[in-house]
Amino acid sequence: MDVMEKVVALCKRRGFVFPGSEIYGGVGGIYDYGPLGVEMKNNLKSLWWRWMTVEHDNIVGIDGAIITHPKVWEASGHVKGFVDPLTECKKCHHRFKADDVTGQLCPDCGGELTEPKNFNTLVPTELGIIEDEKVKTYLRGEACQTIYLNFKNVVNSTRVKLPFGIVQIGKAFRNEVTYGNFLFRLREFEQWDLQWFTKPEEMDKWYDYWKQARMDWYSGLFTHPDNLSFHQHEKLAFYAKKAFDIQYRGQEMEGIHWRQDWDLSRHSQFSGQDLTFEGLIPWIVETSGGVDRTFLFLLADAYTEDGDRIILKLSPRIAPYKIAVFPLLANKPDLVIKAKGLYEHLKPLFKTVWDDRGNIGKRYYSQDEIGTPWCLTVDFQSLEDNTVTVRDRNTAGQIRMPISELDSYFTEKLK
Ligand code: ATP
Repeated sequence: MDVMEKVVALCKRRGFVFPGSEIYGGVGGIYDYGPLGVEMKNNLKSLWWRWMTVEHDNIVGIDGAIITHPKVWEASGHVKGFVDPLTECKKCHHRFKADDVTGQLCPDCGGELTEPKNFNTLVPTELGIIEDEKVKTYLRGEACQTIYLNFKNVVNSTRVKLPFGIVQIGKAFRNEVTYGNFLFRLREFEQWDLQWFTKPEEMDKWYDYWKQARMDWYSGLFTHPDNLSFHQHEKLAFYAKKAFDIQYRGQEMEGIHWRQDWDLSRHSQFSGQDLTFEGLIPWIVETSGGVDRTFLFLLADAYTEDGDRIILKLSPRIAPYKIAVFPLLANKPDLVIKAKGLYEHLKPLFKTVWDDRGNIGKRYYSQDEIGTPWCLTVDFQSLEDNTVTVRDRNTAGQIRMPISELDSYFTEKLK
């Protein structure tokens, strides 16, 4: 089994990610996050959000609707221009983006390919309850559009001045031609986007700034940052001067886009509204990343085997639980009472889990597999001197520490 297959199995076994609608046979390209997955995903999103909106003074957030006016997707070019011409194999019926295949034969089975046809990847929906009066619209194909739609509302309701950013984390929907590879290519997924509005003369400077800042941010989270790299695009949209992706082992995780004044100009044209600010239509640097892809790559990067021990070496900041608390023996009331007291104390401060099943070795293995960075054990010595053992996930090494020092120890570790 390769690492990805092992990660998929671990996700199901330990409750990170489940196939969508599984009891009905599933829906391709749709997944649900389980009890551990939602904790990790929330940690990830709140780190991103904090970094963007707390560590930068000039970035504000929005949370836009998934359903927008149908004209949005005409203005964005998705309804007409941005459809992907596809070609289908007459033998195995696999479909490919016409741009991705060079010859006449199927890359999967060698069968003959059809002429490319246009497909619209937007997911349509209808609003209204009367059959003939329903309005056709789309679930948003990319989250960023609601930022453009609210550009005027934000500048009119806040005190932002150029350059400034608007961020959003939100769902997007695409009828992907070839969905698959677990969370890599989904039909329903989440994006984190920054739209950075600047004067044209500062565009180059800000593009380079955000490109590096985003790489540094990801590098701080991955177990092996060497697996991250930039990929430079050679084919550029007509408005773009340059385009880079941040990749994990050669696969796109986030795009750093030079969008110039394209989006606001188009919405201004299609809506008839004046979207100028400080005397011009601002230019945009966009950083657009996939939350689910990042989640998947973080798990794959953290997955480690040491003999029969599986260890998820996740950054403690994103691990679902930070601390596990055990009584050495579950049948010794003194130990259990003391350990429970410690658990109740730590629970509101750090995401903490209680475990008193089986033997201590099994509990360590179980916590290693879900990435819990520290396990605290209350033993007989704890009853005498108020210390506990603190075991480190990555090294399996243990130190003994006074209970009174734990809060500051973990606060420091989680900074
Ligand atoms: P790709 O070339 O892989 O289809 P894209 O260039 O269409 O991606 P963007 O539209 O730039 O992607 O979206 C920004 C980010 O959103 C991507 O870098 C990726 O992390 C994420 N993303 C895009 N499509 C999907 C999908 N179908 N499933 C999961 N994540 C996605």
